[in-house]
Amino acid sequence: MAERMDGKLVSASVKQRVADETAKLKEKGITPGLAVIIVGDDPASRVYVNNKKKACAAVGFYSEEYTLPENTTMEQLLSVIEVLNSREDIDGILCQLPLPEHLDEQAVIDAIAVDKDVDAFSPANVGKIMIGNYDFLPCTPAGVMEMLKYYSIPVAGKHCVVIGRSNIVGKPAAMLMLHENATVTICHSKTQNLKDICKTADILVAAVGKAGFVTADMVKDGAVVIDVGINRIDGKLYGDVAFDEVEKKASFITPVPGGVGPMTIGMLMQNTLKAAKLHHNIEE
Ligand code: NAD
Repeated sequence: MAERMDGKLVSASVKQRVADETAKLKEKGITPGLAVIIVGDDPASRVYVNNKKKACAAVGFYSEEYTLPENTTMEQLLSVIEVLNSREDIDGILCQLPLPEHLDEQAVIDAIAVDKDVDAFSPANVGKIMIGNYDFLPCTPAGVMEMLKYYSIPVAGKHCVVIGRSNIVGKPAAMLMLHENATVTICHSKTQNLKDICKTADILVAAVGKAGFVTADMVKDGAVVIDVGINRIDGKLYGDVAFDEVEKKASFITPVPGGVGPMTIGMLMQNTLKAAKLHHNIEE
């Protein structure tokens, strides 16, 4: 039976670390500031934004929320970002995705100043991650790595299979595993023999967006299974992994909810702290 990796616990330890460092910054008169923009009234986005604001308050950050109506134009959204880019009291800017369809998500990401892009979605930050010389790591994949570290799970030399190749999760997760010297395979919707490939994984990361997609017959005995998926069915949350059956085979497993989800916010706090330090030329 697998050991459950407790994202709430690990995230709390990350946030405690951030809160301690923030208290020290405040003694120097510096308060990290995060601006969160939400467009429209997607209920899931609303929950995420509320949780981000709560986390900011808990670690001692200043935060601002911009709630813009569904019919906001690109011009209006870009002008909000432009003002935030120039403000000295704002260290991080994030625009909650997904955006309504009429808005150009990539153009919005591109508009956020690179040194305030605490989601690390901009081409410049993605490029830095590729090179391995980065300031911010994308929050969800960074949260996965933090959990592996917390549970002392070795990554170097292991075969890591990532299912999913999105710019937000799959691709950066694979890159971070590679930085830690894993041998990485990325699988996606066109992959052939998916089950056979997954069965060779020492660490299996599921970022597909389909409830119960990873079944026990796809998992090697003793594998570490990281479930990034968040699927809402009748108001209840399910991961991409068929938890009850896979738990019996894996050595470690993340539950949904309470696994990778809480880590994302912890890492956002870490990135915002880092941005504030960079803006004030404070060494790590
Ligand atoms: P996405 O839809 O952009 O990407 C899904 C990926 O799954 C694609 O690359 C696709 O190729 C792959 N895929 C789809 N069907 C497949 C199949 N049959 N076989 C193999 N691969 C297949 O989604 P995303 O943004 O990467 O998110 C993935 C999941 O992670 C979603 O459930 C999302 O809600 C969740 N998520 C969680 C967090 C968190 O904080 N825990 C953050 C972001 C996303």
